[in-house]
Amino acid sequence: MSDAPQQNGTAFPPRVFSGIQPSGGLTLGNYLGAIRRFVDMQEANQGKGIETLYCMVDQHAITVPQSPADLTRNTRELAAGYIAAGLDPAKSILFNQSQVAEHAQLGWIFNCVARMGWMQRMTQWKDKAGKNTQNASLGLFAYPALMAADILVYHATHVPVGEDQKQHVELTRDIAAKFNHDYGVDFFPMTEPVIEGAATRVMSLRDGSKKMSKSDPSDASRINMTDDADAIAQKIRKARTDPDALPSEVEGLKDRAEARNLVNIYAALDNRTVDQVLSEVGGKQFSEFKPMLADLAVARLSPISTEMARLMQTPDEIDTILRSGAERARAIAAPILQQTYDIVGMIR
Ligand code: ATP
Ligand code: MG
Repeated sequence: MSDAPQQNGTAFPPRVFSGIQPSGGLTLGNYLGAIRRFVDMQEANQGKGIETLYCMVDQHAITVPQSPADLTRNTRELAAGYIAAGLDPAKSILFNQSQVAEHAQLGWIFNCVARMGWMQRMTQWKDKAGKNTQNASLGLFAYPALMAADILVYHATHVPVGEDQKQHVELTRDIAAKFNHDYGVDFFPMTEPVIEGAATRVMSLRDGSKKMSKSDPSDASRINMTDDADAIAQKIRKARTDPDALPSEVEGLKDRAEARNLVNIYAALDNRTVDQVLSEVGGKQFSEFKPMLADLAVARLSPISTEMARLMQTPDEIDTILRSGAERARAIAAPILQQTYDIVGMIR
């Protein structure tokens, strides 16, 4: 994307960072594509002296209008979702972006590093701003530079994300490379996106060409982590499919986006490969497969949503966890920001 030199980040010790926007309720896509991966990385790095930091990126959420009450509630619910899914505040640093001012401070410097052309090429900008770019917020345009700061203010080397965020992590590398080049330093690492598993891009239940999103106006397009068993079963029953039976092999899902999506979801929820699932369900009609999928989704999600609801009864405890996480995050971010200021020539 840029002609800035690529430097390698081997000198940087591994550190994991990722975030989710409190821009609505959590979806199955967020769970399979992100949160479950966060938990895997938390567990894989325990005892190795490698920090895992997971953020509620509320400053990204306000790039589109959010009601204050919803933003507060969604931030707490996101924290509850993290914890209920297995993120442990004793093992990972869980915090809210706006409580660590260093993100926005480094974000400003990166606004001055990133180029207009780079931002204009971001597919998410094109998708979210739509035709009415003149009326989109400046924050929506600039948000990938703040995301680069979220990552680089910790010198994070690995970022677990869904497929849709790959381009933003590549932009983060471009920003790091340009900063290092312009100032003649090797200060920011070349961060790697970690995009793994059977569900790196869960699609809308209503349209197999669109990503499932928490901000989609259609609630029927997604499974929310807080949906009850009836809602999950009904949404899966109504999910768009085609009239054919399921194939026994992956090639049979070619050009069948909706069918492929449901099989991917099944495989991811069951921790199996798509091949393994198809060898079992090949030949079945959707009328038979959909209830199987609904049962599996309920079995996997309901313990998490029950725990989320329990945690939401004590919002003060959530706030305490976030405050303590922010303090620990700031202890890492502040010296890195100060060194950045020194490199840039800002008096402190
Ligand atoms: P919004 O619609 O507000 O952008 P979102 O559902 O896209 O919300 P984000 O907060 O933008 O959620 O993304 C959080 C994480 O979840 C990112 O790592 C992103 O890649 C991942 N993610 C989002 N949607 C999906 C999906 N449908 N499938 C897999 N991963 C996803
Ligand atoms: Mg998104």
